[in-house]
Amino acid sequence: MKDFNNTVKAVIFGHAVADALGVPVEFCDRDELDENPVTDMTGFGTYPYPEGCWSDDTSMSLGTLESLTLGMVNYDDIMINFGKWYYKDEFTPTGEMFDVGNTCSYAIDNYFVNKKPVNLCGLDNEQSNGNGSLMRIHPVALYLYTRKNLSTEEKIEIIHSVSALTHAHERSKIACGIYAFVLWELMDNPVRESILNGLNKAKEYYKSYPESDKYSKLFNKTFILTKRSDISSSGYVVATLEAAVYCLLHSKSYEECVLSAVNLGDDTDTVGAIAGGLAGALYGLDSIPEKWLTALKKKEYIDDMCERAVKAW
Ligand SMILES: [Mg+2]
Repeated sequence: MKDFNNTVKAVIFGHAVADALGVPVEFCDRDELDENPVTDMTGFGTYPYPEGCWSDDTSMSLGTLESLTLGMVNYDDIMINFGKWYYKDEFTPTGEMFDVGNTCSYAIDNYFVNKKPVNLCGLDNEQSNGNGSLMRIHPVALYLYTRKNLSTEEKIEIIHSVSALTHAHERSKIACGIYAFVLWELMDNPVRESILNGLNKAKEYYKSYPESDKYSKLFNKTFILTKRSDISSSGYVVATLEAAVYCLLHSKSYEECVLSAVNLGDDTDTVGAIAGGLAGALYGLDSIPEKWLTALKKKEYIDDMCERAVKAW
């Protein structure tokens, strides 16, 4: 149980720390960061916030994790927490909501303003395939890991439904599913080969899904040989997932993984966060530099939420 507790914290903090590393340089381009790379936790830059401030990626993840302390997946309750963040600044490092994606914003308004049922709020058009559900899916994947009575199909259906709260297009749902397959393999066996095992399981699972061809580059055995210049780190969900997995595959430590992810530029906080959660599972809680954990805003609040979640599961 202590091991599982540590794994949950490794993933949650691994994600949040990397989010905070990326916030000050969000939207910086790669050339700029190649000349002046991020090497440590800093503040300000893109946003007027001090070091250790995490963004919407972590806020929406914590809203999800808080809901999962109920010991079940309740879609309305998760959406209510998104509303508490979006309209009332809860689940934020500074008491102020910043950095919300368009698709998330429309979906949350669909629930609270347009009064749509929770399963019809997410946007399902092809343009709504930013990384806004991928960046908040890890708490659900962690919870489902403990549900030994559920089949893989049942777990993936829940992952898809949680994605669809905001991102209902099949491409976004598959990204969340791929993330879950990789995370579950890493949790079973925290070694580098588990990344490829997870990708292979996802490839097999999604082979009949029309949208799975969007992931053919990631699913290809030669993906690891891709040149850095051929890896985009944009907010497009496919690009974000590729960039995060690429950094994980090429890393030897948590620190190396998340700094390489942030220093790809563009959507630095989310690419960092996706890579960071998986790197937490691979390298463990102790691998996250203590000084970064100390710098993280509301560290005790996040730690307490992880404790309550694990107790409830
Ligand atoms: Mg963000």
